[in-house]
Amino acid sequence: MITRYGASRDELQNLLLNEPRYRVDQVWKGLYTELNAPEDMTALPKALRAQLVDLLPNSLTLVEEVISDDDTTIKFLWQLDGGSRIETVLMIYPDRATVCVSTQAGCAMACGFCATGQAGFTRHLTAGEIVEQVVRASQRAKAMDRRVSNVVYMGMGEPLANEEPVWESIVRLHEDVGLSARHLTVSTVGIIPGINRLASRPLPVNLAVSLHAANDNLRDALVPINRRYPIKALMEACNGFLESKNRRLTFEWALIDGVNDRPSDAIELAQICRSFRVPAHVNLIPLNPTPGYEVRGSSRNQVQAFCDQLVGMGANATIRRNRGTDIAAACGQLAAGQPVQISRSK
Ligand code: SAH
Repeated sequence: MITRYGASRDELQNLLLNEPRYRVDQVWKGLYTELNAPEDMTALPKALRAQLVDLLPNSLTLVEEVISDDDTTIKFLWQLDGGSRIETVLMIYPDRATVCVSTQAGCAMACGFCATGQAGFTRHLTAGEIVEQVVRASQRAKAMDRRVSNVVYMGMGEPLANEEPVWESIVRLHEDVGLSARHLTVSTVGIIPGINRLASRPLPVNLAVSLHAANDNLRDALVPINRRYPIKALMEACNGFLESKNRRLTFEWALIDGVNDRPSDAIELAQICRSFRVPAHVNLIPLNPTPGYEVRGSSRNQVQAFCDQLVGMGANATIRRNRGTDIAAACGQLAAGQPVQISRSK
């Protein structure tokens, strides 16, 4: 089925065969540069607008929009064709606006602390479904007089287990929506062949690796794919990516009380970070609680102590504010139907 952001230029051209040739450009620009729905493309005749609404249907149906207390984080729950549900998060910062997109409905990686991992895999998203998440969130940002500048592939699913659609969406965001590749970040659980292929692709996107543990024993337990792609080989792939792209490498580290927030964890992690020519950056995220995982996130003090210890050892680390804990922004929580106690619009 042809959808609004799934249609290629050729497909659009076929839909517009009876129209003057310049219409293809007009519609394409309307969709990607102006981020307009066909009904709002005022450069087009009214009848054509109405036709395009039917010919180019959205692929995401809004189920729920949830806004955090301070209006800076907006979470969208969408229903896809086939009925599965995914989430997108729009985060408004003073200096930028970032969209966090899902790449799969569910996830097969089975990380025990992650709500999406607990729910299992349903299906891959198409490039159009990924791009549409960015566009719909951008339209929401526009209504707040803000422009989306950054996209992180950190929502539900494993981007490097759905490589081609993910790459196609990156190209579209870069070429058609006009986002800088340097403002696009792919986050992976650590799939080595995917990292290698990402390194050989033309656009210089950022790479984030969900490390969470700096020795194989602990990482095997937290991130099961580590048994297939252990740390040493993973770090070699990261190094290869850095060498070819000259981009930033970030490690994500969800701090779990008594599990990976000990001084010995910081020492191991700092060592790994310093092993790169340009030291890797660590993003510390206090674990968001999920019902399927009984261990708690580290306390505020512990998170700060862990960060201080890393920095003291020459690593580059920052604490990521837990955005939207009040709106169940822990990956996959809304889609999993887990309780949300918040204000909601509509
Ligand atoms: N599959 C990709 C991208 C999606 S997960 C990846 O693994 O990177 C995005 C980030 O959220 C990952 O770092 C993941 O480990 C983290 N995450 C998942 N569940 C979390 C939770 N309950 N609390 C904090 N971070 C979590």
